[in-house]
Amino acid sequence: MESRASLYILVLLLGFSQAFYLTQPEEEDITTRILSTNKGFSEPLLEGDIHVKRSRTAVICTNNNCYWKKSPNGLVEVPYILSSAFSSSDKTVISNAMSSFHNKTCIRFISRTNQTDYLSIKSNGACYSDVGKSGGAQVVSLSQLGCIYYGVVQHELNHALGFYHEHVRSDRDNYVTIKWNNIDPTMTSNFNLKNTNNLNTPYDYSSVMHYGRTAFSINGLDTITPIPDPSVKIGQRQELSNIDVRRINTLYKC
Ligand SMILES: [Zn+2]
Repeated sequence: MESRASLYILVLLLGFSQAFYLTQPEEEDITTRILSTNKGFSEPLLEGDIHVKRSRTAVICTNNNCYWKKSPNGLVEVPYILSSAFSSSDKTVISNAMSSFHNKTCIRFISRTNQTDYLSIKSNGACYSDVGKSGGAQVVSLSQLGCIYYGVVQHELNHALGFYHEHVRSDRDNYVTIKWNNIDPTMTSNFNLKNTNNLNTPYDYSSVMHYGRTAFSINGLDTITPIPDPSVKIGQRQELSNIDVRRINTLYKC
């Protein structure tokens, strides 16, 4: 484990009550919740909710080792175990989020039997995931205090499949303007571009992996503004977008 590149996505979702969340689902975006709650996190963060331990380097995918393997039957099985701490309603939300992958892609989240590489889904007080398969047991944390929501679960699972946030993809400057003056100066690294494989898909404002427009704002004003139409909605957490689905199917050759 110590020698393995380890990259964690951390999404802290404690800022709003469940009641507010449940009654205001259309008004919520993922980063609104993240930034209101990640202040206590002591580890270094990149891209806002990506955690890189100082002694390690970011995961680099060589020989496709950071992707899940396709079975001879054409399905990509991603084994997982669920913490016993989850309630039955928690498990239903997680299962429903997984079902969407099953219905739209060749990804199959399956209960682990004896597989070496698998997701250990637990409630560690935050939401985070490795990006891609890191080998062995890798934690996907879904805090019961704020992460057990359909779109949030999908977001974290999609990280585990190998996807980063949309707003850092290599060509984002053609599609959004980053308002650097509105960004908390300690958070500007969250907007560093990544050398992403965009899989011949368009920039996707509707991706469940896209952050909201005030992500990491120091003054409440936009930090991410779509261009040319600034009114385009970003930061949804309702469902994998059609392009999210297409990317999964392209990456995994479904
Ligand atoms: Zn994320």
